Amino acid sequence: MKSQVKLGTVFGVELGLHYSWFLIAVLIVFSLAAQFHIQDPNWSSLTIWLVAITTGVAFFAGLYVHEISHAVVAKMYGIPVHQITLFLLGGVAQIEKDASDAKSEFWMAIVGPITSAILGVVFLGLAKVAGWNLWSIPTTPGIAILVWLGYINFMLAAFNMLPAFPMDGGRVLRALLWWGMGSAERATRYAARLGQWIAFFFIGLGILRFFDGAGLAGLWLAFIGWFLLQASGATLLQNKIGISLQGLAVADLMSDDYGVVAPSMPLQEFVHEKLLRAGRRFFLVAEQNHMLGLITSNEVKHKEPADWPLTRVDEVMVPAEKVFYASPEMSASDALEMMASRDVHQLPVISGGRIAGVISRAHVLQQLRLRMDLGRLDIDSSIEKTS
Ligand SMILES: [Zn+2]
Repeated sequence: MKSQVKLGTVFGVELGLHYSWFLIAVLIVFSLAAQFHIQDPNWSSLTIWLVAITTGVAFFAGLYVHEISHAVVAKMYGIPVHQITLFLLGGVAQIEKDASDAKSEFWMAIVGPITSAILGVVFLGLAKVAGWNLWSIPTTPGIAILVWLGYINFMLAAFNMLPAFPMDGGRVLRALLWWGMGSAERATRYAARLGQWIAFFFIGLGILRFFDGAGLAGLWLAFIGWFLLQASGATLLQNKIGISLQGLAVADLMSDDYGVVAPSMPLQEFVHEKLLRAGRRFFLVAEQNHMLGLITSNEVKHKEPADWPLTRVDEVMVPAEKVFYASPEMSASDALEMMASRDVHQLPVISGGRIAGVISRAHVLQQLRLRMDLGRLDIDSSIEKTS
């Protein structure tokens, strides 16, 4: 999930919004306005809208605080977080890699619901100080805002603690299983399977509630279930791949099938003789097997075709110091993680400044399939072995 609207940076973490957030923001403000209208019909419509918008903004600020707490704890354990994005179904912190031990996973996960619960206590406490009697219907706009925010943050804390991986509660469960069983892979497998069952339950319950007259709220639950099902399925697949990759290094899986161009080649020639002919998306720019940079159709697009004959490849290439690359000794799973977090499909493999090969996501998967076909690798037996 990438932010499309950027709001600024807090603790070195970029806060942003996905386009789908605008839909939920409008829905929440409208439903708040309707709710406040029923709660106290004497309020003017200006008051109702001001109260609804203020409450909505504070609600989303609370979601950011929840996600920032995940990011702060992740950073304490040395795991970088680049971005926090609010989207249709809530917030996500883009955590660079998985926790390396059960304890850090536990604290990274549980701090979110704890933070939401603390926010709940703070808002209800402020309402009490402002003169609200516990369980009574708020009478002033200020108290109405605080009470709604208090309850919703408690609900967020409780909902997030459901053991539906990859929700916070599911991660807490995974950390506890990991700690108890001593195997991250097995813990992930159990937590993700339970996550799938809860996802099915959400979908079923959501559809039933929809036909029972709950309308949007029912569809909503089904939609969250569907999202969880996707996420837990992806986790199970990733887990299987991670296990199959154990013990394999980049050198075992890299390929020598890559394209090279000389730095002095004109773009015109590069496009017609290389790019359009070879059917590759990227080329290494090299001199005597020494990598100088990398070029793809993206770099070419930035130049007008009229300038192609007079522009050299090394004028537009991504220079070597900006290219992410792997070394032959690096573990294959680290290389895959690097490609995923940098959102690239392949990495050059460099050894002592020289090109040793390339490793690509597609090639790694193909290799795994081949190894499975040859029977050298049986996924289920290797799962048991690691436990
Ligand atoms: Zn959370």
